[in-house]
Amino acid sequence: MDNCIFCKIVRGDIPAKIVYRDETVVAFHDISPAAPIHVLFIPVEHIVKLSELSIDHANLIGEIHVRIAKVAAELGLQDYRVVSNCGESVGQSVFHIHFHLLGGRKMGWPPG
Ligand code: 5GP
Ligand code: ZN
Repeated sequence: MDNCIFCKIVRGDIPAKIVYRDETVVAFHDISPAAPIHVLFIPVEHIVKLSELSIDHANLIGEIHVRIAKVAAELGLQDYRVVSNCGESVGQSVFHIHFHLLGGRKMGWPPG
């Protein structure tokens, strides 16, 4: 997608602090971290949001979550939170599906 900021990061058109990448998944530090560790995991494929997934994406989403667990361990996190905001009213601001890995501080529940 030409105008998508995360597709631009995938292509290297705008810089990001890349933590991990392979042919299907890219992980990079959030530009405006909400926790001491805040890494975003995205598929290379432009998918708008969680509610647009189909069963064809099941392996991809599974792979992303296994990768999240590996990167969390590499970053020394034992406890962490994974979030995917689906839709503007719950906080989605970039419409290329992504999973936030948040850790390094105590967090309350439920979220506000
Ligand atoms: P959302 O609000 O859609 O759940 O999450 C989008 C996240 O992307 C936000 O936490 C925001 O700080 C991050 N973000 C937005 N633009 C950029 C960017 O250009 N680079 C990086 N690294 N993160 C970004
Ligand atoms: Zn995109």
